[in-house]
Amino acid sequence: MRTFTTGLLAPLPILFVLASCGEDGPSTTAPKDSAVKVTAAVETVPVQNADDAADDPAIWVDPVNPANSVIIGTNKQKGLGIYALDGSELSFHDDGRMNNVDIRQGVTLGAITVDVVAATNRSDQTIALYGFDSAARTLTPLTSPIETGFSDPYGLCLYQNPDTDKLYIFASEADTGVVGQWSLTSSAGINFSTERVRTLTLGTQVEGCVADDSQGVVFIAEEDVGLYAYWADPNVPEDRLNARLVIDTVATGHLTADAEGVTLVDEGNGAGYIIVSSQGSNSYNVYDRNGPYAFRGAFVIGDGANIDGVEETDGIDVTAANLGPRFPGGVFVAQDGFNFDGKDGKKANQNFKLVAWPEIRAALNLPEVAPESVAAEPPSKPQSE
Ligand code: CA
Ligand code: CA
Ligand code: CA
Ligand code: CA
Ligand code: CA
Ligand code: CA
Repeated sequence: MRTFTTGLLAPLPILFVLASCGEDGPSTTAPKDSAVKVTAAVETVPVQNADDAADDPAIWVDPVNPANSVIIGTNKQKGLGIYALDGSELSFHDDGRMNNVDIRQGVTLGAITVDVVAATNRSDQTIALYGFDSAARTLTPLTSPIETGFSDPYGLCLYQNPDTDKLYIFASEADTGVVGQWSLTSSAGINFSTERVRTLTLGTQVEGCVADDSQGVVFIAEEDVGLYAYWADPNVPEDRLNARLVIDTVATGHLTADAEGVTLVDEGNGAGYIIVSSQGSNSYNVYDRNGPYAFRGAFVIGDGANIDGVEETDGIDVTAANLGPRFPGGVFVAQDGFNFDGKDGKKANQNFKLVAWPEIRAALNLPEVAPESVAAEPPSKPQSE
């Protein structure tokens, strides 16, 4: 069941924005700020489809054997790939044109506890829902896909309220800047119900987003415009439902359009950072996780000895969790818009690059403990403009 608020889906002006990526080569626009350079330690095998295909990753952390953690990556022409931390592909789910993917682990839904994986499927305009099978390291459909009512579902991120344990899905519609929020509930463990509980109308195309569950905030990027913080829970007082804080902008800030993938590195005790793909400058911006979301610097993933650098990134994900000997301090994952392979650097299909999170931390000289975690002040929250 879904609610469909036609008033908020009234026709909006459609902006015809030419994609900055092309077949010729990546953007050569320099980042607005001096960016530090890191290199990838691992790259995944290329996706099966040529041209723009790889898009957005999600990291599943194996709580028992961290080295068995995986990257779930979308191939937006075909489905979902599961990659081991050495970059090999464990399996592929040929389920449709999956655009964005996110995960929450250990979610209690009625009688079951499950690692929930959600992805926007542009083939049938739905949100696909899976449980991650930790033994087989594969995806199992959880329930029938959610009908979005969108002409083209696009961005996606999950939010779990830590007080109620309720799981919500944010998904955007391509072009229109409309973002829907669905709640996912189950009373018996098998009969899931999904309901659209909220709609945000940003105006132009939205894709990247990430929720900070413990702070109750969702960070949303409007590709040509900037990055915002909104309240994440649909049950906040009415005057907060559309309230937002502008964190950064394309026009006068540190971002170069498109503002693409958004992710959160949780370093515990409320500390951490928000990272955004500044696609037009082949770089990533880092901000404090907590208000006033200070800009901490930018980094690029440059050419390494054996692995090419990263350009025109769409989706990103990160974890500071121990992932075993290869990534004991966690990993940052970025889609690479232009993958070159082999000694002769031949152009190959797109893939995902894996960078050790501590290398990024060190390159940016981030404080050992994010300062906000020891500050007495509560974090600032989304405000009306
Ligand atoms: Ca792309
Ligand atoms: Ca993702
Ligand atoms: Ca996009
Ligand atoms: Ca590359
Ligand atoms: Ca994308
Ligand atoms: Ca490569």
